[in-house]
Amino acid sequence: MRRKDFVKYLTLFPLGLKAMQIKELKSLVHAFDPSDQMPILFFGHGSPMNAIEENEFVEGFRNSVKDIPSPKAILCISAHWETRGTFVTAMETPKTIHDFGGFPPELYQVQYPAPGSPEWAMETKQIITQTSVGLNYDWGLDHGTWSVVKHLYPQADVPIFQLSLDYTQSPIYHFELARQMAELRQKGVLIIGSGNMVHNLRLLDWNNMQTDDFAFDWAREANEKMKTLILQNDFKSLTQYQSLGKAFQMSIPTPEHFLPLLYILALKKEQDSISFFNDKAVAGSLTMTSVKIG
Ligand code: ZN
Repeated sequence: MRRKDFVKYLTLFPLGLKAMQIKELKSLVHAFDPSDQMPILFFGHGSPMNAIEENEFVEGFRNSVKDIPSPKAILCISAHWETRGTFVTAMETPKTIHDFGGFPPELYQVQYPAPGSPEWAMETKQIITQTSVGLNYDWGLDHGTWSVVKHLYPQADVPIFQLSLDYTQSPIYHFELARQMAELRQKGVLIIGSGNMVHNLRLLDWNNMQTDDFAFDWAREANEKMKTLILQNDFKSLTQYQSLGKAFQMSIPTPEHFLPLLYILALKKEQDSISFFNDKAVAGSLTMTSVKIG
């Protein structure tokens, strides 16, 4: 019986239970409800302009959380926060960071004033034993996070914190680290990875910026192969992407936009379903392909 039905059952079936007792039971149900388990999401975030544009990708962002339980907090692993060592943001009020250049003034005016979550940050620090996780008080929310999350929760009313990417570590290290965070998912924290599966900005074809689903052959090849490996649960191969051939090497010239995907895959459970959305390429060398698990 799902929580909703159970609560309804309790409400309709007082049988001598005092209102107080019903309330207590409800809170007990809430505390242990398995339907609190969140899906896990990887977003291809693409251009920061997606923060203020209305387009099919933004619609995909929005739809991805329409049918999920309300999260107690959001943890985002963004391509745009790389550090030596691993950190979580632990401030009460994270600032909106405009970490890009050359965009229109209105993009710099965007604020995403969601509260932070020192409590969940501390809990994350405690459950990760693979490394010592530092508490960070001066980062905030970078555009990998807010350009997507503002579409998911426009009211900015869900507490949010970030986990950094340790740039000194290997893909398998990140994968193993992510597995240690499974408990957060059980407890109602929505874990999001934000990057891009294929991301080679140097090779962007600016003449085809507006061409629908325009991909270079190698970008298409790598993106399709990634999807196949994901559906086969062959995450190990994905952690060894450097040895998967030329298409992968061109698609992942630097690891930071790919690594958030590994965090999400690491949290998949056997019985979880996998679906893709926003599965399109932009300007030849970037794919927006996003993944929902669970
Ligand atoms: Zn990015």
